[in-house]
Amino acid sequence: MSFSISSSYNKLRAVVDSTPNDALPSLSNLKKAEDSLPSSLPVSGLGEAATETHLLTDLTPGFNGPKTSSNYYGFVTGGVLPIAEVADNIVTAFDQNVQVHLSDQSIATAVEDRALSMLVELLNLGDGWNGKTFTTGATGANILGLACGREAVVDARLKAIGESGGVGELGLLGACLRAGIREIQVLTTMGHSSLYKAASVVGIGRASVRDIATSKDEPWKLDVDVLERQLKGAKEGVVSIVALSMGEVNTGRFATDGLETMKRVREVCDRYGAWLHVDGAFGLFARCLPPTAEFRTLINSASGIELADSICGDGHKMLNVPYDCGFFLTRSSTILASIFQNPNAAYLSAGQSTIPSPLNNGLENSRRFRALPVYAVLLAYGRDGFAEMFARQVRLARGVSRFLSESEDFELLATQPNQSGEFDNVHIIVIFRAKNESVNAELVKKINDTRKMYVSGTKWEGKPACRIAVSTWRVDVGRDVRLVEEVLGEILN
Ligand SMILES: *Cc1c(COP(=O)(O)O)cnc(C)c1O
Repeated sequence: MSFSISSSYNKLRAVVDSTPNDALPSLSNLKKAEDSLPSSLPVSGLGEAATETHLLTDLTPGFNGPKTSSNYYGFVTGGVLPIAEVADNIVTAFDQNVQVHLSDQSIATAVEDRALSMLVELLNLGDGWNGKTFTTGATGANILGLACGREAVVDARLKAIGESGGVGELGLLGACLRAGIREIQVLTTMGHSSLYKAASVVGIGRASVRDIATSKDEPWKLDVDVLERQLKGAKEGVVSIVALSMGEVNTGRFATDGLETMKRVREVCDRYGAWLHVDGAFGLFARCLPPTAEFRTLINSASGIELADSICGDGHKMLNVPYDCGFFLTRSSTILASIFQNPNAAYLSAGQSTIPSPLNNGLENSRRFRALPVYAVLLAYGRDGFAEMFARQVRLARGVSRFLSESEDFELLATQPNQSGEFDNVHIIVIFRAKNESVNAELVKKINDTRKMYVSGTKWEGKPACRIAVSTWRVDVGRDVRLVEEVLGEILN
C-alpha cells in the first residue's frame, strides 16, 4: 500500500484537534497504549501505513497534555504556537544540519543567527551579546554558562601569573594546578536543580554550589552584602561564579529586585573577579510584558539582567515553541570558541563570515535546526504579540492567587498583595497549600486525579505544597480561573 505524507499530516491534525482538552490521558488509554508496544523488533516491518495507524491510534491517546491542553500547569512546559508547529514540521522535512555556516549553500545558519538577534531584541537586552547559541534547553544553557564561567575565572588566574592556555586547552586539573586553584565555587540562592547538574558536568562539582540565601521568608533573594562577604572571605585558591535565579522555579520570584541591586551585584563580581551568570529560563520573559503599572514590579525585578556575563533561557517554555529548545547568551566573543572549538577539521571550515559556525560555539557538531520555530514565532507575533500573550498568563496566575488568598481552605505562599491589594510580584507561578494538613498531604494527587488540570508537587518550609505554572498561549483568563476554582472546590468535597 502506498503511503502519503500529506494525507498523514491531515490525519495527524485531525487527531490533535479531536484530542480532549484534558491535562492527562485516561488510565485506560494509557494502559491500551502500553499494551500496544511491541515486545521486540519485528523481523519484517509493519510497513509505514500500519505504523502510522499504530502511532496515531494507539500511542497518541497515551500522551499527556502539556501542549494540547490549556490546563496543564505542571513544571513550566509552555505550549506550541500553531506557526511553531508548522515551522517544526519544515525543520523535519528539510532536515538542515546547522553546524557549519555555509552561506553559499543554505540559509539555515543565517536564519539561526537572525532568530538569536531578534530574541535579544525581544528581551530588551541591548547590544554586545557576541556569543549566542541555541541549546537543547535551559539545562544545556546552564552547562554552557558554568563552562564559560569556569573558563573565565581560571583563565584570569593563569594570566595573573603570566601563564596561558585555559581549561579548554590544559584541562580542568592541569589549569587549576598551574593557577593554584583548588575550588570553583558557585554562589546562588535557590538555584535550579539543573545548576547542580551543570556543576557536575563541567567538573566543578555539585558540592561546590552554595546556597547563600539568608532570608527565611524570601529564600530566593540574594543579599548583596552577604554575597560580598562570601567573595571577599573566599579562602586562598577559591574562585567564584555567581548564578542568579531570575525566575526561581518554585515561586517565580527573582533573586534581585531591580536595576540598582543588579548594579551592586555587578560591581561586587567585578571587584572579586567572579563570573555573573543568570538563569532566566522563564523569568527572563517578564522583561517583555507591557510597560504598564500592572507589570511594573515584575519588569523591575527582571531588570539589570543585561549586566550579566552570561544568560540562560528556554524557548520551549514561555516562547511556546516545541521541545527541545533553549538558548545561551554571553558578552564575550571568544569564550565559547575557547571551550567548544572543534579543532583540526578543515572540511568544516566556514571561511570568512561574521556568522560563526555553530559547531564552534556549543556542545554539538551536527544539530537540529531548532532556530526555525523561534524565528517563526518572533516574526508572527512580534513584540506586541508576545507582550499580550505574557500579560494573559500573568493575569491568570494573579487571578488564581486572588482566589487562593480569599479562600478559607488554602494558603497562598511566597507572595503577598501590595498596599493596593494587587499581587504585583506574581509572575506565572503560584505556590500554595491546603490549610488542613490531611488534605494537604493528598492535595497534588487529588487535583491531578480529576485529570482536568495538572499541577506539580513541591515542598515549602519542609511541608508538601502545590504549584501551578502558567505558560501556554492558550490561556483564557476568565475561563481558566473558573476551571481552577471549580477543580479546587471539587476536591474539597
Ligand atoms: C526549566 C528550568 C531549567 C531547566 O530547563 P530545561 O529546559 O528543562 O533544561 C533551568 N532553570 C530554570 C529556572 C528552569 O525553570
